[in-house]
Amino acid sequence: MSVRENIELLRRSVPENVKIVAVSKFHPVEQIREAYDDGQRIFGESRVQELVAKQAVLPDDIEWHFIGTLQRNKVKYIAPFIRLIHSLDSESLMSEIDKRAVENNRIIPCLLQIHIAREITKSGFAPQESTDFLAGGRWRNYPHVQLSGVMGMATLTDDAEQIRSEFRLLKSLFDEWKQKYFADEPAFSEISMGMSDDYSIAVEEGSTMIRVGTMIFGKR
Ligand SMILES: *Cc1c(COP(=O)(O)O)cnc(C)c1O
Repeated sequence: MSVRENIELLRRSVPENVKIVAVSKFHPVEQIREAYDDGQRIFGESRVQELVAKQAVLPDDIEWHFIGTLQRNKVKYIAPFIRLIHSLDSESLMSEIDKRAVENNRIIPCLLQIHIAREITKSGFAPQESTDFLAGGRWRNYPHVQLSGVMGMATLTDDAEQIRSEFRLLKSLFDEWKQKYFADEPAFSEISMGMSDDYSIAVEEGSTMIRVGTMIFGKR
């Protein structure tokens, strides 16, 4: 099946209010263009160098999202144009994003990445760590970072109930923080969860944004 057919199939299988981030990492710009020509505007990349190279040659109305581990010393390269960083996982990264946002006269939306999976290799704040981080209040010192919700990756497993319980945990953290800290902030609204193999479960558990690569573009 073509990229276009894959995207259309995906669109039909999720509710209209769930945003689709087409994860184009390792795939060439020609494939991104194919998706773009079919109306796709949100693309996700996980490496700064690759993202910057693609951004330079593709249409300006693409909404680029960063979904991978972000090193502080690379924030400056994406700060001018990035529309959403899904992988905010420390105060030091937040401080750097804030600084680069100021330089670019921008406010940069970010999601708190939470480690919900069993695998220890996955990144993100541990749930307790992020709870402490928000309770501590120092995040308020970075007004050029717009906290816009949460992101998480479930364990890579065939056990659907395990995956479901991890997504449920992320949703419950979101709800708790929304009520405690962001009740008056409409921007805190996104729950980024669900990939090619588990997006249906994620949508059932309240995802507002799925990040799908393989199902759209094929194997990397
Ligand atoms: C690669 C990647 C995805 C997409 O994964 P697929 O299984 O190809 O859909 C989603 N989220 C993150 C953080 C990724 O690194």
